Amino acid sequence: MRPGPSQDDVRRQNLGALLRHVHVHGATTRAELTTTLGLNRSTIGALTADLSAVGLVSEGAPKETGRAGRPSLVVRPESARVYAYAYSVEVDRLRAARVGLGGAVLDRRDLDRPRGLLAAEAAPLLAGAVKEMQQMVPADAICVGAGVAVCGMVRRDDGLVRLGPASGWVDEPIGATLADELGIDVPITVGNVADVAAFAEHARGVAAGCDNVLYLYGDVGVGAGIIAGGRRLTGHGGYGGEVGHMKVVRDGWPCECGARGCWETEIGEHGLLRAAGRSDARGRDALLGVFDAADRGDARAQTAVRQAGDWLGFGVANLVNVFNPEMVIFGGTMRDLYLAAAAQVRSRLNSNALGACLEHVRLRTPQLGTDAPLIGAAELAFERLLADPLDVG
Ligand SMILES: [Zn+2]
Repeated sequence: MRPGPSQDDVRRQNLGALLRHVHVHGATTRAELTTTLGLNRSTIGALTADLSAVGLVSEGAPKETGRAGRPSLVVRPESARVYAYAYSVEVDRLRAARVGLGGAVLDRRDLDRPRGLLAAEAAPLLAGAVKEMQQMVPADAICVGAGVAVCGMVRRDDGLVRLGPASGWVDEPIGATLADELGIDVPITVGNVADVAAFAEHARGVAAGCDNVLYLYGDVGVGAGIIAGGRRLTGHGGYGGEVGHMKVVRDGWPCECGARGCWETEIGEHGLLRAAGRSDARGRDALLGVFDAADRGDARAQTAVRQAGDWLGFGVANLVNVFNPEMVIFGGTMRDLYLAAAAQVRSRLNSNALGACLEHVRLRTPQLGTDAPLIGAAELAFERLLADPLDVG
């Protein structure tokens, strides 16, 4: 028989649960914590004192409630003092932010990213943004780590980017490259942009409270962040969720991956621009131009958008049958496509998905908008803290 958890394990777990609660839900009274966490009052008091001693939370009187009796103290995350660095390396954008415990963006820098910019060129730009932000950090602040969301296939063990779309990245150790540039000694966790965005929406966005979620993220290509049974599903090596490379047309259009007929050759940037007769164009603005033209009545753009919407519903129907999610979120360029062609998506979904798999599916756009990868990158860093709060700093 395995020995049960030690007292230290239980305490660490309870500290993590209390800190996670105020990190996700904000200021909470001791009374609410007692009920929600199922612990007694004296335990909550002791845990709060421990977290307060290392500067992770503070306690104070609640705002005037007008009710009689002694009010329960309120526990707040030290959002301005405890923070993580978050980076998002997207196809057309580089972003860096300082995110406080509790999820508030304290400071940020957004930069355009020319396509094809290599990791060795991107890292100094991100490091420069961080160095600017560092000048504003209070002297007593605590950095708990850093997280990176990157468009590409990320090896879970060490964050190596095996392959990045439209960027020429092959086997790039972006975490180590960033650590060298920054010269800061904190752990850096790297994740795929769709996985990380799904994580963010699940933690504090539109999918909060949903245990089975599919987040479709589009840029040049299309990937999915999958939450199954409340956990991130990323496969053996971390490369799962590459739904854009589902084969949907035998001998179809050539894909960047080297195969033909992948789903993203129909719904990704190249596919939509090709269908709209704009094969020479590239980039998010060109893509938005197609939606705009469709909106203004351009017949070819309308056909292209309808066709891509039909393909979007076709693929989502397959994914709904496989994963039986309660929510599908359309992020990145998939948000634009879904909003422009919702009727086609729904119609194809209704005719192709199994009724039982489809019956509770809600189709949504991201609540955190384009910030989801950045917020999720910070959550990757906070996960380490929440696992062992007293190991801070
Ligand atoms: Zn492919």
